[in-house]
Amino acid sequence: MKLGRVRLLMVVLSALALLLFPVASMLKSELIMYGALLCFVLSALVWYGFFRCPHCHKFLGQSTKTVCPHCKKRL
Ligand SMILES: [Zn+2]
Repeated sequence: MKLGRVRLLMVVLSALALLLFPVASMLKSELIMYGALLCFVLSALVWYGFFRCPHCHKFLGQSTKTVCPHCKKRL
């Protein structure tokens, strides 16, 4: 998966989770709460599984730079 796509997916999933948590508590809906939790877990999984350097395949962590902190190549 391309790094741009991974970033977009992470943003969408975490935004959805952030949006669904207050909605779930407002509507007192367990189903929506589980959906929010699922989005949160999925975004963490995508982050850990796919947010890697395309050159050295090392985990990028919280890096938002355009250069890999491990091999110094452009992302
Ligand atoms: Zn690298």
